[in-house]
Amino acid sequence: MSSDIYDVAIIGGGIVGCAVLFELSRQGYSCILCEANANIMCGVSAGNSGMLHTGFDAPLSSLELQCIQQCQSKIFPVLKRFDIPFEKCGAHVVAWNAGEKEKLYGLQQHSETALISNTSIVSSSDIHKREPSLATGALAALYVPDEAIVDSNLLGVCFAHHAKQQKSKILPNCEVTGFREKTLTTTQGIVKATVTINCAGLYGDSVDALAGVQSFEIKPRKGQYCVFGKEASHLLHSMIFPVPTDRTKGTVLFRSVYNNILMGPTAEDIQSRSPPKPEIEIHKVLTGRARSLLPGLYQPIGSYVGVRPATQWKDYQIKSYPKIGWLTVGGIRSTGVSGSLGIAQHVCDSLRMDFDLEPSRGGTKSLRKISWKAGVDAASVIIDGCHYDMVHPIFQFGHQKEQSKL
Ligand SMILES: Cc1cc2nc3c(=O)[nH]c(=O)nc-3n(C[C@H](O)[C@H](O)[C@H](O)COP(=O)(O)OP(=O)(O)OC[C@H]3O[C@@H](n4cnc5c(N)ncnc54)[C@H](O)[C@@H]3O)c2cc1C
Repeated sequence: MSSDIYDVAIIGGGIVGCAVLFELSRQGYSCILCEANANIMCGVSAGNSGMLHTGFDAPLSSLELQCIQQCQSKIFPVLKRFDIPFEKCGAHVVAWNAGEKEKLYGLQQHSETALISNTSIVSSSDIHKREPSLATGALAALYVPDEAIVDSNLLGVCFAHHAKQQKSKILPNCEVTGFREKTLTTTQGIVKATVTINCAGLYGDSVDALAGVQSFEIKPRKGQYCVFGKEASHLLHSMIFPVPTDRTKGTVLFRSVYNNILMGPTAEDIQSRSPPKPEIEIHKVLTGRARSLLPGLYQPIGSYVGVRPATQWKDYQIKSYPKIGWLTVGGIRSTGVSGSLGIAQHVCDSLRMDFDLEPSRGGTKSLRKISWKAGVDAASVIIDGCHYDMVHPIFQFGHQKEQSKL
């Protein structure tokens, strides 16, 4: 390991760590990212829905809402420049009974207070005109036109690749095991940095403990999906949300950027931090729910599971510890893709304001174009000759030539 002292060391190469690396290297910070796994983007970030939320139902005055909105204002030029598949397909939050219909007005009021002013309540006949294959019986819906889907795996990979082009270093198979006096002990030797940023997802609390800080406890929350083949893609145009509860957005019916239809995710508190196998009983429930919403769906072709890094708090846990050169970016439980560039901006602001740390070299804000092509195996992409494994099931299902039946 070199004796360089980096401006910043980032622990964790999920969507959050990669977005932070992308933004800091653009600003001119010298950065190194340590990822315990052989690949980036294979923790929590490999088991999500790939939605870019607007924050229409995020808690008002939360850091989460602030980051999502900041990300919304920055992300679309980046997606275009990196040629990342995305679609602003919009979402319908559908009420199936009078109680839910009543709640739609409160939800619309909430989104307006959050300055998302282009939502509308649509009538039963309008929903069925927009989504003719949807089961009958929808009473009304809140329409949120800017909700989008994206290939979030590719987004993280492109963030990381862009940062590498700007001289940032990424160390795979590099687990951070200790921290003392601005020095990280890792399975690949010593790393020194002025500020260390903990973006360790499901291990955020145990990585914080390496620095002797503790502000939250990870409470893993599983989400399971059921995946349908592309032959059904014409049946659905937007995302179909249920009316949310205090605890969850509920299971959503949506189409991926690669035209698979998905139902999920569930929200189940679990003990283990590693993703369990999909449960067959839950798969059956999700299949039934999807088919009851979209009766034209055939057999599902697969399923997958993700685990959210929930904590005892609802909001993101981003905290500065200037005395020890440590910044925690934790508890990014269910909107890490949607908030990614806002979180990265928040981290940049914290480096300047809390740590008084300016970039040690000149940055360039200009975005380099990235061209990628899918590998032949439906599980990798190639960018400028570099191979990146693509672990996310949305990518893998989307690129399989012949889809297996369950
Ligand atoms: C079911 C589900 C659905 C979701 N849907 C959406 C959605 O539609 N839209 C959205 O915006 N968000 C969604 N999310 C949330 C989003 O996926 C997360 O907020 C995001 O992936 C968290 O990213 P992260 O970088 O914090 O964590 P991770 O992706 O887990 O990255 C952390 C990394 O740190 C590494 N690490 C841990 N410990 C160490 C160590 N000691 N040394 C080195 N490396 C270490 C891990 O290996 C891992 O790669 C969903 C999440 C789930 C589970």
